[in-house]
Amino acid sequence: MIPPHIVDEIMQTARIEEVIGEFVSLKKKGSSYMGLSPFTDEKTPSFSVSPSKQIFKCFSTGKGGTVVSFLMEKEHYTYPEALRWLADKYGIVLPEEKAPTAEEMAAHTEKESLFIINDFAKNHFVKNMFEHDEGKAIGLSYFEERGFRSDIIKKFELGYCLNKGDDFTLAAQEKKYKQEYVETVGLVKSKDDRKFDFFRGRVMFPIHSITGRILGFGGRTLQTEKKVAKYYNSPESPIYHKSDILYGLYFAKNDIIKYDNCFLCEGYTDVISMYQAGTQNVVSSSGTSLTKEQIKLIRRYTKNITILYDGDNAGIKASFRGIDLILEEGMSVKVVLFPEGEDPDSFAKNNSTTVLEDYLKDHAQDFVSFKSEILLKDAANDPLKKAELIRDVVSSVGLIPDSIVRSVYAQEVAAKFDIDEDIVIAEIAKSRAKTIEKKAGETKRAVNVPNTSFDTTQTSTPTQKHTEQVKPKATDQFDSSEFELIRVLVKYGVFAIEIPSQDKDGKEITIETSVAELICHELEKDELTLDYPLFNKIHSMVAKGLEESTFFQPSYFLRNEDQELVRLVSDIESEEYELSPSWFEKLKIITQGERDKLPRLIMDTVYSFKVAKISKLILEIKDKIEKLSEDENADFSDLMSQQIRLDSARKVFLNKLGRIYQ
Ligand code: ATP
Ligand code: MN
Repeated sequence: MIPPHIVDEIMQTARIEEVIGEFVSLKKKGSSYMGLSPFTDEKTPSFSVSPSKQIFKCFSTGKGGTVVSFLMEKEHYTYPEALRWLADKYGIVLPEEKAPTAEEMAAHTEKESLFIINDFAKNHFVKNMFEHDEGKAIGLSYFEERGFRSDIIKKFELGYCLNKGDDFTLAAQEKKYKQEYVETVGLVKSKDDRKFDFFRGRVMFPIHSITGRILGFGGRTLQTEKKVAKYYNSPESPIYHKSDILYGLYFAKNDIIKYDNCFLCEGYTDVISMYQAGTQNVVSSSGTSLTKEQIKLIRRYTKNITILYDGDNAGIKASFRGIDLILEEGMSVKVVLFPEGEDPDSFAKNNSTTVLEDYLKDHAQDFVSFKSEILLKDAANDPLKKAELIRDVVSSVGLIPDSIVRSVYAQEVAAKFDIDEDIVIAEIAKSRAKTIEKKAGETKRAVNVPNTSFDTTQTSTPTQKHTEQVKPKATDQFDSSEFELIRVLVKYGVFAIEIPSQDKDGKEITIETSVAELICHELEKDELTLDYPLFNKIHSMVAKGLEESTFFQPSYFLRNEDQELVRLVSDIESEEYELSPSWFEKLKIITQGERDKLPRLIMDTVYSFKVAKISKLILEIKDKIEKLSEDENADFSDLMSQQIRLDSARKVFLNKLGRIYQ
């Protein structure tokens, strides 16, 4: 349990735009920030962050809430984990906590356990390298020989797995980590009852998630024999999906945003050496061919990718697919080819920071000239091959979604190959038509299925289909007057208002009170409660606060552990709910100038709520009366008198409601 005053401190210190900025590239727009939703695949920003209200809102998914809700949603943290992450980021000291015991671990989800094990392993490998004789002599000195500075070794949390073969296996057993989990993350292997360290004798590169958790490892052998695989990687696991991980992104993301460009190279050591040399917006796909998911990861931060190729890279042509994928995502791609025999790692090591920077600047080519150059080497003077090359380049251009960008490249292709621009444009159009046709075929198949089934349902039982569609979800079943009451209670609870009243002699006076007190008093007076559990919870919180003379600002509710509550309050706070598909779809409420009319608004809300509530009670009683059998006369008269009382109460409130606006 994190004590409430620490929760307060964390929530007050954390800056939502800064935290979310680690995951989403945010641009300032008025008093808030906009960006692409990290929860969908959108291309137009609909994700907004308000620093003043300390909330975010995603208009394409309806998700919203505080910085804590964001971490819970995005990183699947639990409430305390999200708070701990923030405390760590902002240097807030939490009360001592013991390392989790075996029992506590069992309570964790599998994923959490895997993260804990990886974190333990990372620390274990680091410790080996700095404290164990073998680690120092072999692991650390290897990195030093490669020219890695000690601050960089520490930053990337590089380590060493002892050659003994069961050092980590035993350490994990001692921690009582589940054998199954240790094997799931691939740190321990078993063979005929024998268990051993998968990475034994290797230097270790932990692979960080964008929030810095350890997803897996790369381990490099120090042997030079050809038959030993140079790198081992963690196997696919619930937390390690090779195709959507980029090595180094955790360290690079801020600079990627800052320079609005991401350098993409091949290996772990390329990333580390470039980073050490001062070019820190660099990531690597770690030996796999670039995937769509990886490109999307980068697109959260920038639309510009620069691919770095080794001078002697034999696989360049195979990587053309990656270029096409980037273009298809509507991003711009450049390419830098290093001199013969050099890769980013060696070049960064052998040259000064400025030479590296200048080289990257001067040798960045756009993909058209790069692809043409590479392909021209093969085509030489063969006209047929040259035609094929042009078609190849043109088909890449055809993938670019933006027509203006496309036409710029059309000009370039025409100039480069000295052909008529119209011909190029016609070729691009042809190639585009093919792609579009292919894509349309895919989507058509996808929508066809539900379409046909819908048609048949509609002809046979149209009404049934209709009611099924409008039926609200369980969470939507609340009364709009209840919602309104909670909305003003949360939003204006601490506001002071003057309302007309009468003193004990019946003289007209005005009294000053807070909105929260007024609403709670009105409910208490008529012994009314709210039916919808979440609303009821908020009302109870406010009423309890008042007993202790405490008034709650909306931000108070945002600290609650209950994320449904946080979401409701942040939606109320964001005031843009008519755009949100969540709570407020059907409730169009005009909020402009509301504060000036506050007393009226509050009384209107209170009486509307009372009228609605009483009407509901009357209906219930009528229902009971109908169901009564004739011999239960006593009950019947009781119910009737209740109904009469309620009817007159309803008239009173309707009257008051009517008078508010006179
Ligand atoms: P080093 O400089 O230590 O030799 P590198 O990063 O230059 O390493 P490359 O041979 O250029 O390594 O390979 C690029 C990347 O491909 C590596 O960083 C690694 O992620 C991956 N890789 C290389 N060899 C293997 C292998 N045998 N098995 C799996 N992945 C590998
Ligand atoms: Mn290398």
